[in-house]
Amino acid sequence: MGLLDKEFSDGNIVVANVEDLLNWARLSSVWQLGFGLACCAIEMMATSASHYDFDRFGLIPRNTPRQADAIIISGTVTLKMAIRIKRLYEQIPDPKYIISMGSCANSGGPYWEHGYHVLKGVDRIIPVDVYVPGCPPRPEALLEGLLKLQEKIRNESLRKKL
Ligand code: SF4
Repeated sequence: MGLLDKEFSDGNIVVANVEDLLNWARLSSVWQLGFGLACCAIEMMATSASHYDFDRFGLIPRNTPRQADAIIISGTVTLKMAIRIKRLYEQIPDPKYIISMGSCANSGGPYWEHGYHVLKGVDRIIPVDVYVPGCPPRPEALLEGLLKLQEKIRNESLRKKL
C-alpha cells in the first residue's frame, strides 16, 4: 500500500498563492514559435526529437507568433533576417520570452569580425532572456537554457509583467 493511498479520498484543500499557480502553469507550457535560422537550428531540432524530447518540459512548437510565448533564435542573424525577427517578436503577445541560442545569435559568432552582413548579437534588436553559449550548443545546453527560462518565469511577478 502506497504512502498516499486514501490520503486524497475526502475533499482536501490546497492553499497556494495564485501568482505561484499561474507561473507554474505558464512555465510548464511555454509554446515556442517554430523558427530556425542556421546550423544551430539543427541542434534545436535534435533537442525536439525523441532522444532529448523538449516536449516533456512543456515546450511545444507553434507555427504562428500570435499563439506563441517564446522564440529560440537558433542561428546566424543576417541583417536581412533581423527585420523579419523583429516583426515576429512584435507579433507575439506579452508576456514573451527569447532564448538566444549559439554564438551567432549571441554576438555574431564566427562572423564577428568580417561578417558585414551579420548582426552582432540579436539583443541589438530584441531583448534576450537567456543566452545559450556554443557553436553550436549541444541539446543538453539548450535544455539547460530552457530550465533557466523556467526559473525566471517561476520568480516573475505578473503584476509587473502584465
Ligand atoms: S553559432 Fe556556429 S553552429 Fe550556430 S549558427 Fe553560428 S556558425 Fe552555425
